[in-house]
Amino acid sequence: MKLIGLTGGIGSGKSTVAALCRERGWRIVDADAIAREVVQPGQPALSELAAAFGKDILLADGQLNRKELARRAFADKQHTELLNSITHPRIQEETQRQFAAARGDGCDFAVYDMPLLVDNGLDKDMDCVIVVDVTPEERVRRLITSRGLEEDDARRRIAAQVPDEVRLAAATHVIDNNGTLDQLRERTIEVMDRIAAESPKV
Ligand code: ADP
Repeated sequence: MKLIGLTGGIGSGKSTVAALCRERGWRIVDADAIAREVVQPGQPALSELAAAFGKDILLADGQLNRKELARRAFADKQHTELLNSITHPRIQEETQRQFAAARGDGCDFAVYDMPLLVDNGLDKDMDCVIVVDVTPEERVRRLITSRGLEEDDARRRIAAQVPDEVRLAAATHVIDNNGTLDQLRERTIEVMDRIAAESPKV
C-alpha cells in the first residue's frame, strides 16, 4: 500500500483534494476527525482531561467544551504539554489502527489528510507528500468568504503554522490551487494519475 501524506496551510483546499481522492476510491485517514474522535464521551482521553484540567472542561451533555479546554491548556507550556501527553498517544494509536485497517482491506492507496504533517515531522513516514499550495493572501480571502472567519483570526491561524517554503520543501507533488475549483480538480486528477503510475500493481 502506498501511504500518501496530504497537507497544506489552513484554507489551501486540502479538504477539497481529499474529497477527490476519496471519489477515486482511495482510503482517507483524516487527522482532524481522529483528533475529535479520541475526545468523544466514553473515550478514556476525555475523563483523563477532566481529571487533569477540571470538570468545567465538560459541557452539561458530557461533550468536551473545546473553548474552555483551550483556555486552560494553552495558558502556558506546561499545561499544553499535559494536554498533549493525554491526547497524542490516543491519536497516534487510532491513526496506526486506520493505516493497518487500510492495509488489511487490501487498499493500494491511503491518504493521510493532515494539516500539521510537516509541522510535526510526519512527512518522513510517508511514501509521497502532496502539498496544496495557495498564496497566504488568497487563503485569507477564502477563509473570510467561505468559512466566515474574521481577517485577524485567519492571519493568526496562518502564522501559527509552518511557513509555506518549509512545507513545500517536503513535497514530492505540489498542487497549485491559486486558480479556480475546476483547475484544482484537473490538477488533482493529474497528480493522482502520476502517483498511480509510479506504483504499478504487482
Ligand atoms: P483546507 O481543508 O485546506 O483548510 P478547504 O478545502 O476547506 O481548505 O478550502 C477552504 C475554502 O476555500 C473552502 O470553502 C473551499 O470551498 C474554498 N476553495 C478551495 N479551493 C478553491 C478555489 N480554487 N477557488 C475558490 N474557493 C476555493
